[in-house]
Amino acid sequence: MSKFSFEILGRDKETNARLGLIRTRRGDIETPYLVPVATLASVRALGSDDLASLGVQCTLANTYHLHLKPGDELIKRLGGLHRFMGFAGPLFTDSGGFQAFSLGFGREHNISKIGNIFPQELSRVGSSQEKKEGIQDEVDCRVENSEGSMCHCSEENEVLDSIDPGEIYKLNYRRDYGENSDDSRKRSGKVAKKGPKIVKKENLTRITDDGISFKSMADGAWHFLNAEKSMKIQSNLDSDIIMAFDECTSPLSDYEYTKKAMLRTHDWADQSIRYHDKNQAIYGIIQGGWFEDLRNISTEAIASQSFDGIAIGGSLGNSKQDMHQVLDWTLPKLDDRPRHLLGIGEIDDIFECVARGIDSFDCVSPTRIARRGSLFLSPESGGSLQNKFHINIKSARFKSDEMPLDPNCSCPTCRTYSRAYLRHLYVCGELSYFRLATLHNLHFMLRFMEDLRESIRAGTFLELKNKWLRTI
Ligand SMILES: [Zn+2]
Repeated sequence: MSKFSFEILGRDKETNARLGLIRTRRGDIETPYLVPVATLASVRALGSDDLASLGVQCTLANTYHLHLKPGDELIKRLGGLHRFMGFAGPLFTDSGGFQAFSLGFGREHNISKIGNIFPQELSRVGSSQEKKEGIQDEVDCRVENSEGSMCHCSEENEVLDSIDPGEIYKLNYRRDYGENSDDSRKRSGKVAKKGPKIVKKENLTRITDDGISFKSMADGAWHFLNAEKSMKIQSNLDSDIIMAFDECTSPLSDYEYTKKAMLRTHDWADQSIRYHDKNQAIYGIIQGGWFEDLRNISTEAIASQSFDGIAIGGSLGNSKQDMHQVLDWTLPKLDDRPRHLLGIGEIDDIFECVARGIDSFDCVSPTRIARRGSLFLSPESGGSLQNKFHINIKSARFKSDEMPLDPNCSCPTCRTYSRAYLRHLYVCGELSYFRLATLHNLHFMLRFMEDLRESIRAGTFLELKNKWLRTI
């Protein structure tokens, strides 16, 4: 048996937020929790000793990428993923099904799984004053994120291209976006024609009911994954919580395609249940895109299976509001198994999704934006919804700033270094920047999740949410 259980320790009286404890064979995970992503068996720029000293409860690694490099069979021979990466706590692995999107339509359409990257916000944040304040850099980062960071475990572009921060500093990522699609898509079941201008890249996937063929970006060779093989790879990795094999669809996929992919995902869910290593806990993944009837069908199909937990995946529409809608369709129909939202992890999203009953998240964003110069700032230090709780360390205004990054943060970086020093490291492309920045952002998110759990325990969740998300 997998020695997996989930206990709900408390519920918020005013929302659907819940405090929980996931027990796995390698330790417990207090929820709500944001699982740091270790795509290639590494939270980039950090060692597993860093993770231990930060108090990271668990991480999430990537089945597809580890299958390719260094190979799951090799990792098995070396004693499994925990031993290989020197991490003792619980490990999640995803199934490889997300790469159906990130290496497929995600590349071809150059979008994230929330389609238009919130164009209303782009136009707002792109105002001249905010550009002066360096907030445009945040937008630029968002646009970069259209290649994956809103999505779970998607570091494909970075896996190939290690861009140093000095180089990023010189780049201009601005792109123009069209109008957002509206409710017509929902009504007609069709994708609205207007949308982001897209820079097409090669679609590296071929998908049939049998499985997914991936063209390796490294050498052009084709690799085939199906449910049975994904379960075998995840068994070789010996992770503790695995994901059923699925097909993650694009926000630009129409109703018919999304339905086809969803039905395929349900077949693969059956096969995943059958073939998975029974020592591992397994989460099923609800698909169905941004179509209410499909989400309902998928919720019923996945929840009726004997999965240990339920993940919500796939396209979450074109805006944060769409994402909330998907959760409102889905979560009330689920029982008390743990619920994981794949690929989401911004502060406001976490509040909104926890309020709706999500227990765990995974997202590359906190560590990825750190490497690109966006560092978290608490409300006490000036962080707000308007600046996304970030400062952009590349900004010239920090050139001689002797303050710590966030005076209210107790991480090793903030205890030791000034903003001026961090900016200097960033601008010069010093490698130490990556580690110091990642330490801060990860520490910040861990403390944030801790505060969030404490607020549910104390009955002050909405108070905390209002404190963070208040708009001035
Ligand atoms: Zn800090």
